Amino acid sequence: MTLKWFGVVSSESVLVPTLGRRTALLSLLAIVVAYTLYQRLVSWHLRRTQRASRGVVVAVNASDLICLFTAAALVSPPEHYERALLLSMFTVLFTQSFFGWTVTLIHLALVAVGYLSLVGFATGAGAALSPAEELWTLALFAIGLMVYLGLQGQVALRTKSLVEIFHRAQEGDFGARYDESADQMPDPITKIGRAYNKMRADLEAIVLTDPLSGCFNRRGLNQLAEREVSRAIRGKKHIAVLAIDVDHFKTINDEYGHLTGDEVIREVGALLRETAREVDVVARIGGEEFAILAPDSNDEGALILADRVMNAFRAHAFKSLPPERRITVSVGVSAAPARDDDVAKTTLARADEALYVAKRNGRNRAELWHAGMRAFDGPNGGKARGSVQGMIRITE
Ligand code: GH3
Ligand code: MG
Ligand code: MG
Repeated sequence: MTLKWFGVVSSESVLVPTLGRRTALLSLLAIVVAYTLYQRLVSWHLRRTQRASRGVVVAVNASDLICLFTAAALVSPPEHYERALLLSMFTVLFTQSFFGWTVTLIHLALVAVGYLSLVGFATGAGAALSPAEELWTLALFAIGLMVYLGLQGQVALRTKSLVEIFHRAQEGDFGARYDESADQMPDPITKIGRAYNKMRADLEAIVLTDPLSGCFNRRGLNQLAEREVSRAIRGKKHIAVLAIDVDHFKTINDEYGHLTGDEVIREVGALLRETAREVDVVARIGGEEFAILAPDSNDEGALILADRVMNAFRAHAFKSLPPERRITVSVGVSAAPARDDDVAKTTLARADEALYVAKRNGRNRAELWHAGMRAFDGPNGGKARGSVQGMIRITE
């Protein structure tokens, strides 16, 4: 059995003449055991500290190489030392996959030092090696590996950019396309990017639209609001939001059933989209609650839109309801100059507050938010500013 294991140790190894094959084999086993123990100690340390400093990583890499090159010195004939280089290539690749470029370059330098030490040691021990040839071997190894790692680095960068595009899509932002113009030879990443670009438009519609009303959903509103707000900030424009809630919608469900209620919501969505301007963003933000984000609109413009919306409802005969059955809406209005990124959020909250006041003040009307408006306490909290209220035809 032991004799069989002796086959592992070449009789041409530079250490066999001095150590003997038995001692060389035992030394190899001792190195493997010491290496395994060292690795276990490091894993225990990492589990305890929960972090791997660069020093620890380099120390582990160095131990891999010490083990590898010492084993080569013990068992391999000098003319086959390239095998150690071949194996060290895997350690370089693993290092690059897990620890990034800096540690990889340090590791590559350690490989060079380890290999040259091995060659130097063997030559010193009388091996017939040509240092110039060995340098060439090492240089070719390093150049080949660097080219490969460079390509790998590019793949990693492109994968990262694709993952970012997917993350943005997950947030409902479909603004980014995968740019395949730089991919000279289409590879699997190009194919994934192309597939993403193809389904992007469909996904955008599915993720940002409310299927019942055909309007944007809350996510769609948030995403488009972000775009409109940055545009308004750049142009020093106002942003307005209308919060719209159908009056007494429960009675529609009660009188005509839930399915008819759904049909009405569908028609409400269509009517709002028809009434709003092309640039306005119409979204369903709750059961029968909608919001219109109106870019470049101040109080006055927003109230005109609110007026138009209310009139559209008063005049509209819903296909799913008897012709005489009319539906009205209450509208909360708020507009503000776009000064910061939060303007849409603030304006929507204010419009919602004004909507509450419109409901409290009798429905089928619009209220403009103003500082001091108290939506949630006091009987007079909902009084709108007289001058603005005068602009709205209120029919109750
Ligand atoms: P108000 O004038 O105070 O708004 O009265 P309302 O009856 O409209 O009350 P509210 O807005 O609080 O309630 C809305 C109702 O709309 C509650 C729910 O039964 C109904 N609703 C919400 N979502 C849907 C939906 O998707 N389909 C249908 N058919 N009904 C819905
Ligand atoms: Mg309602
Ligand atoms: Mg409601």
